Amino acid sequence: MKIDEIELRLIEVPYRAPFKTSFGEDAEKHAIIVTVRSEGVEGYGEGVMDPFPMYREETIPGAMHLLRNAFGPELLANGCDHPSELTARWSGWRGNPMAKTALELAVWDCYARQQGVPLRTLLGGDRTEIPVGASLGMNPVEKTVESVTQHVEQGYKRVKLKIEPGWDVELLAAVRAVHPDIELTVDANSAYTLDMLPLLRQIDEFGLHYIEQPLHWDDLVDHAALAKELRTELCLDETLTSPARVKAALDLGACTVVNIKVGRVGGLQSVREIHDLCVARGVPMWCGGMLETGIGRAHNIHLATMPGFVFPGDTASASRTYARDITEQQLETTDGIMPVPEGPGIGVTLDRAFVDEVTQSVDVVR
Ligand SMILES: [Mg+2]
Repeated sequence: MKIDEIELRLIEVPYRAPFKTSFGEDAEKHAIIVTVRSEGVEGYGEGVMDPFPMYREETIPGAMHLLRNAFGPELLANGCDHPSELTARWSGWRGNPMAKTALELAVWDCYARQQGVPLRTLLGGDRTEIPVGASLGMNPVEKTVESVTQHVEQGYKRVKLKIEPGWDVELLAAVRAVHPDIELTVDANSAYTLDMLPLLRQIDEFGLHYIEQPLHWDDLVDHAALAKELRTELCLDETLTSPARVKAALDLGACTVVNIKVGRVGGLQSVREIHDLCVARGVPMWCGGMLETGIGRAHNIHLATMPGFVFPGDTASASRTYARDITEQQLETTDGIMPVPEGPGIGVTLDRAFVDEVTQSVDVVR
């Protein structure tokens, strides 16, 4: 396909309520929405990097620089026969998986729309709906227990609590007192160290489905050591930045559950490689979330239809996060089930009026 132009749009969308994790608290989503235009067809991608390097190292200004001056011009100059080739073409520029993914996703969507097929079909996903869980930010204990109850009543298939030292055992005891048997997980976003083993052993007692990223955001070795000390399975998120990194984590025994975020691993082609590795080794995967707008959320829904995604993911109803989303289609669950948006590509279109309202800047690369 010949690529005519690439639009890089910075948006700022208010969250329904501030989201608090062990990183801090955010009131609005900052994102890059990438539009690729090719022979009269548009495709959309979303960049999940933050304004500052809070989750991984990438930032929005750094990604804009690379999209404008490296990946964008390369794509415009050389076109694309199939979106699966882009990761290898851009591998000379090291790292920066989120920046690469924002553009790669837009090309996948555009390609699928040109072929007239849903994106999931190109990825080998048969399902037309996926089971999802809910991830709850940090709130006072009583409010959290109430929120867990609400989400269980709404049919969410698992509940994930954000924890940090001092905000863990008491919280889990309160939730388990009311909900002894629900599928419950915790995500520490790297808030613990191996020195805190006695505390981690206490967390180990709550029958959790898995513990997500307890230790340093780039660590494999300490997680492998911790895995030997706990009964609860470990799931890695922040640490898993590429197919090679996932293989290393599994070889070392640093995790036995894999959280996939397409932006963190460098694009859909990387997801496909990780997927095949995990399926071959019998390792369960699930799709994480970065509080994406409807564009990123729709991509997540399509990729989570692949057969290796066996645990419920974080792709919950958009209305939990946003009072108004940037897509015309509302991505909502019923009884913990998210339907895959129908139609070619990712199956959603932009709500142009609202997108313009929340736009901070627009760059077009030709
Ligand atoms: Mg996580």
